[in-house]
Parts: sequence; C-alpha cells; structure tokens
Amino acid sequence: MPESPAFAQVIVDIASNNTDRVYTYSIPAHFKLLPGTRVLVPFGHQKVEGLVLDTSSQTTLEPGKIKAIIEPLDVYPAVLPHLVDLAKEIAQKSHCPLALALRLMFPTQMRQGRVKEKTQTVARLLLDEAALEEAIKQNHRAPKRKLLLNLLSDRLSHPVAELKALVRDPLPSLKILEEAGAVSLTEEEVYRSPYAPVAHKDPDPMLTPQQQEVLQEIVPAVRVGKGKFLLHGVTGSGKTEVYIQSARECLALRRGVIVLIPEIVLTPQMVSWFRGRFGDVAAVLHSRLSAGERYDEWRRIRSGAARLVIGARSAVFAPVRDLGLIVVDEEHEASYLSENNPRYDAREVAQSRAEREKACLILASATPSVLSFAQAQRGDYMLLEMHKRVNDRQLATVHLVDMREELRLGNRGMFSQLLIEKLGECLKAGQQAMLFINRRGYAPSVFCRKCGEVMACRQCDVKLTYHQADRMLHCHYCGQFTPLPEACPACGSSYLKPVGAGTQKVEEEFRKLFPGVQTIRMDADTTTGKDSHEQLLNQFRSGAARVMIGTQMIAKGLDFPQVTLVGVVLADLSLNMPDYRAQERTFQLLTQVAGRAGRADMPGEVVIQTYKPEHYAILTAAQQEYRGFFNQEFARRRQLLYPPFTMMVRLLCEAKTQEQSREVSAQLFAEVTQFLERRAKGKKRALFVREDEAPIKRIMGLYRAQVLMKLLEHKDSDEILAFLNELTQKDWPCRVSLEINPSSLA
Ligand code: ADP
Ligand code: ZN
Ligand code: ZN
Repeated sequence: MPESPAFAQVIVDIASNNTDRVYTYSIPAHFKLLPGTRVLVPFGHQKVEGLVLDTSSQTTLEPGKIKAIIEPLDVYPAVLPHLVDLAKEIAQKSHCPLALALRLMFPTQMRQGRVKEKTQTVARLLLDEAALEEAIKQNHRAPKRKLLLNLLSDRLSHPVAELKALVRDPLPSLKILEEAGAVSLTEEEVYRSPYAPVAHKDPDPMLTPQQQEVLQEIVPAVRVGKGKFLLHGVTGSGKTEVYIQSARECLALRRGVIVLIPEIVLTPQMVSWFRGRFGDVAAVLHSRLSAGERYDEWRRIRSGAARLVIGARSAVFAPVRDLGLIVVDEEHEASYLSENNPRYDAREVAQSRAEREKACLILASATPSVLSFAQAQRGDYMLLEMHKRVNDRQLATVHLVDMREELRLGNRGMFSQLLIEKLGECLKAGQQAMLFINRRGYAPSVFCRKCGEVMACRQCDVKLTYHQADRMLHCHYCGQFTPLPEACPACGSSYLKPVGAGTQKVEEEFRKLFPGVQTIRMDADTTTGKDSHEQLLNQFRSGAARVMIGTQMIAKGLDFPQVTLVGVVLADLSLNMPDYRAQERTFQLLTQVAGRAGRADMPGEVVIQTYKPEHYAILTAAQQEYRGFFNQEFARRRQLLYPPFTMMVRLLCEAKTQEQSREVSAQLFAEVTQFLERRAKGKKRALFVREDEAPIKRIMGLYRAQVLMKLLEHKDSDEILAFLNELTQKDWPCRVSLEINPSSLA
C-alpha cells in the first residue's frame, strides 16, 4: 500500500446541479494534498478548479478511468475541514450545489487566480558590529553604499521601496553589497491593509455595574465554550464594551473571535475601537476593501496572525481556527440575510458554527428581532438586559407630533411648529441635529393636477421619484431615469406637481427655514463613491455641518456626541410597506433613530412626526418600550399566523408577459395544493396558499406573480421545502424562485 493517499475526492467549481457530486482523481506522487485544498483538474475537455473534500489510498473505480490532478492552487488548504462541513450543511439547507456553498469560504477573487500575494524586496544587514565598521571603511569612496550600510545598521528589514526615499536608486548599490555578503536581498510578502498600524493600545474604561453584571454571565460561558445569549441593551448602554471584554477573555484562552456588524455600521469608527484595543490581532472584512486588501486580511486570519475578525455578514465564514466566540451586533438587521444563491441567514450560520466549534454566541440589539426575542422567551437563548445608558445618561425625551393636527392649525409644511422650535433652540445652543426621512430623492411621486396621471416607470409598476439635483425622474427599482416632462403625457397640461417628501425636499425646506445653516445629506445618492460615506460622516463629526439629513443610513450605530436633537419627519413611511414585518421595522427604525440623540453629556430630544400617533409601533417606539411593542406584535403574529408561528414561503414567477407569469403561477399553485393534500393525509400542513400578482406587479420589465404560503413548521416541513425546490428546477417558461421568509415581500 502506498504511504500517502493516492486518490482525491474533488468537488468541481461549477455551479450546476448536474455536476453536484464528488469526482475521484489520482494524486500525482510528488504532491501532498490535504482535504480543503483547491486544485486544478481536467474535466471533460476543460481544466477547472475544484476543492479536495477527502483523500483515500484506494478506490473502487477502474484505474483507466481516473484522471490525475493537474496541480494544487494553493500551498495550504483554503477551506478548513469544519468549514467544509459547514458548506455541506448550507448546500443541503438552501438546496444549492456544494460548489456554490464552498465559494462562501474563501475570497471570490482567489478563483481563477484573480488576486495574488504582493511581495516586495527587502534588504537586511548580515554583518556584526566589527564587520560593519570594516565594510564602512572599505566603502568610503562609495558614498551611496556607505549611507546604505549606515541605514541598515539597525539590522531591521528595510523594504527597498522605502530606501528609495532616502537614497536615489539604491538597488545597484545594494546588489553590490549583496554580492559582497554584507546585505541580503529577499522577496517578502506584504500585507495590504486599509488601516494604519496601531501604535498604542487604548486603555479599557471602568466597566459600568450593568456591563459587569452581563459579563458575569458571559465570561464563564466563554471559558467553557458554550452558551447562547440574547443581549438586549438600550441604545448607548455600552454593548460594544461588552463585546470587547468578552473577546478579550476569549483571546486570552488562545481562541478566536468573530464580531459581525451590519455593513452600514461597519464604519472606521467601529473598526478603530477594536483596533485601538486589540491592535493587529484584529482583522477587518467588508465590501469596501479592495480585492487585495480583502485577500490579505483573509490570509492573516487563515494563518492565525489575526485571531479576531470584525466583519459584515460573510465574515461569519472567516477561517478562524479554534473559534471561541461569535458576536452578532444589531442582530435584528435584515442585512444578515443573504438573498443570493446560496441563501443563508448569518445568524443561523453563527449558531451552527458556535455549536460545531464549541463557541459562545451573543446576539445583541437595542431592538431584538421578534424572532430572536421569542426564542429567548422560550429559553433557547439566555436573555441579558441593559436598561440604562452609560454614565446614567438619560434616554432622549420623545415628543410625538400629530401631523393631522398641524394641518388643522393651518401648517401645510413638512415641519411641525414643535420641530421648528426645537431646531431653533438646538442650533442656537451650538449643537447638532439629525433629520430622518426614510425616502431618498425630492418627491416620491409626480402627478398631473389636471387629469390625475401619475408618472410611473415604463419598466416597473412603481411611481417615479423626482430628483431635484438633476431634474430627473428616477426609478428606485430599476435605476432608470428620464427628464421631468414639460407637459403631462396623458393630457398635455403643464400642471405637473411633485408630491410627498424625500431627503432632497427636506433639505430644501430646512434651508428655507434656516438659511445659512450648513447641512449634509446622506442617502444612497450621496454615498456612491468609495469613501464618500466616511467623508460625510467626518464632515459632520468635525462640526463643519450642523444638521444631517438622511435615510435609514443615519439611523444606525453612529455615535455623535454633539447631536442633541433628532427629528423624524414622517414616521409612517415604513408602516405602509406590504410586509408582515412593517410594524417591526418601523419600531426598530424609530428606536434606533431616537437613540442617536443625547449620547454624550447633553440630554437629547426627539420629535417624531406622524399621521398615526395611536399606532402601537409608533407609540411604543416613542415610549422606548421594547417589551410593550414585543407583546403586542407577538400577539398580532399569533393571531394572523405570521412567523414565528409559521414559515412564509413564496414562489415568485417573473415573466415577459402578464399572462405567462399568471399561467406559471397558476400551475405552480395547482402542483403545490395537490402535493399538500397528498402529503397531509388530513393533517393541516399549510394554513394558507394563495396565487396572485405580487404587490409590485412589474420590475425591470418583468411581470411578477406569486404563490404565497404559510407553512406550519413540523418534522416534514423540510420535505415540503425540498418538493418546492424541485418544483422550481423544472423547465418553466419563465424564472421561478423559491423564497423562505424573504426579507421583502414586495
Ligand atoms: P450601544 O452599542 O449599546 O448603543 P455603545 O457601545 O456605542 O452603546 O456605547 C455608548 C457610549 O458609551 C460610547 O461612546 C462608549 O465609548 C461609551 N462607553 C461604553 N462603556 C463605557 C464605560 N464603561 N465607561 C465609559 N464610557 C463607556
Ligand atoms: Zn394630465
Ligand atoms: Zn423601473
């Protein structure tokens, strides 16, 4: 029997169900291959990349049929064994080929070799003190070499590129010194890092009693490597410090840490907090990194040089070895759900990793998702609460303004008397304010005052938003824009009127009320550049602008000490979404926005303007009463049989014509109802199955129809989902996709 395994079981990197199986290749004698290594293999007439799942010394296949691996692609296994298992689990759960799930486990750019290690030439002195003196003497006629010897006398390694700043064209001289045996020139890898090295480590603050209490529960759990917590801490209660202390405990045990943060909150502010405490042990993964930076951060984690990872959703797959702790900050965020194939929920993946790798898990939020809080109440998570802000800072005082009343009093503007008054006071006191409206653009719709025609997108069944900056009508679904027409396309009249308000309109109105006050607008339109997000935040932090106007982008996680007033221009917008989570989203959004006010020594005030002041989501948000909201929302979900009492499942059909989309959805509906009747044998499995147009009937020219289901979770719901998945794979004349508890039901 051969010493090293002769065969490898390989998954080829092709995203297709047809090739979703293990292929056996022989391993050429001179390669040593570990499971998890990426390899190049012959496949049909092509060469494709693949990943070694396993190796064996024998195979039952005929030797003549087995092809040989061409070469390994990396010198180390890119995917750790337990992450291979995790990929298998994800492939199974989301019904996707294993090759696709494996792609989650390493930077995309590694495929097809699109990213490489960066190296640089480094010079180092090889001489001892006496020999150095001798060499300097010998080179006294060669000032460049003499200077270089002096520069290198610290015996540290000096990148040649850096020496260039001090010595003109140093390479020929260095080569001579190398030949003489005085200096070594070697190629060394450079890590591309978006962050400057951290020189000093920030000291830890004294923990608040609340933080201590919470950590008394978490620390022992980190030590034994198990325990699931839901940390419900009001905004400004100091949750980040709890993560930091838990992470410190974990690192002290030589175990690794993953901290997940929604992309939007993953600002340099948060990163610098962690790097300030942990230095280069902390690696950062987010989508704004360049491919090279991302690859290098990933490799620092893979090699163990970085043992703490802060990152957005996909960082849950970071190749941390001996993982001891996962933190999911702002766990209620919809961005933890990946809607791409493979679909996954980073919270579920975190839970699975924590169990597999014996790590402790902390989900945290000021507004936990209804799902997680229900799980905590059921005992799946241990609930930890922090009710107070750090240093006894008060939660902001919230004023609810009924905009119907304003109208009755003759105020037709979008700012209530109270908000105008409070803005005046805030600015006079030299403080900063934030104005929030969850809609970008100038006006969400433009209509004709003569015939009532509403300007709509030709490709999508949605109203067009007017943008003042370019005087164009934009579709927020397909991205197309057209000039505002001179006359109504229906009746020819010129009475086109923008109605409603978006961020641009709010900014304009504000400037009319407070001329000369500097404002910053932050929404998807102003943050398209690579660093524009950060630049705007810095501008605001520096005090150069006094008021920030923005969408939900400004609602989250930001910590601006000078902000004492937050105005919510219209709270009802998110309530009107066609989604069973509209109430939950509204509550979360308002609570988070309110949490931006008064985070430092000055107390904060919040003005929430609404047409529905009696709605429980708005009322409980104004009172900052999480439990009050949860109880009412939970009761409503039970009554209407929404998750967590059922699973919302949708089959979405997108076709070129309305007839086709409805035809396909009708056929799907028939198949589904038949299957359910057959399977159920009299037992109720689905509480509701309905076929209809989707709430948005057309997007980007495709007509949308759906089969919507509420399924009871039980032991054969997996079977139902597998059936539905297979159903979508059939040869339909249009696109059909399966969505399980999707983040949007539009
Ligand atoms: P949360 O994430 O719960 O909203 P943060 O973690 O952002 O709260 O903390 C709010 C503020 O309190 C931050 O400015 C943070 O630096 C500060 N802070 C947190 N813990 C302490 C502490 N123990 N002592 C002093 N300041 C603290
Ligand atoms: Zn008209
Ligand atoms: Zn459109």
